[in-house]
Amino acid sequence: MTETIHPCLSCGACCQNYRVEFSIYELQSMGGSVPDALTHDVPGNGNRARMNGTERYPVRCAALRELPEVGEGCIGCGIYEQRSSPCRDFPFASYGCHDTRTKLNLPALAEQEVTPWLQAA
Ligand code: SF4
Ligand code: SF4
Repeated sequence: MTETIHPCLSCGACCQNYRVEFSIYELQSMGGSVPDALTHDVPGNGNRARMNGTERYPVRCAALRELPEVGEGCIGCGIYEQRSSPCRDFPFASYGCHDTRTKLNLPALAEQEVTPWLQAA
């Protein structure tokens, strides 16, 4: 078990890169977990919702926030336990993760930053 802070908590790049869309059945009002107030309907599609802030450029999900209680400069999801399926399914240290970090001019993750967390998962 590592004592260091997870690399995602000094990143947040994937929450500033993608349109985050999911079934309306993931909304709290439909029996799911995602707070409706942080979302809007996907135009022209009656059964999809989208996180506010991910429909515009530059992208920044409305749920992304500073996490001073975790550490200086830390950032993360303000609805972590309630986040939607695309957020839950986005894999740390995947091609998409590396590609997103590069796009936002963040340094590549070093092997020693990745391996302990993948082993602990
Ligand atoms: S999954 Fe990758 S891009 Fe997303 S916050 Fe973590 S390190 Fe950053
Ligand atoms: S809901 Fe949370 S994990 Fe998903 S994009 Fe927004 S801040 Fe990131």
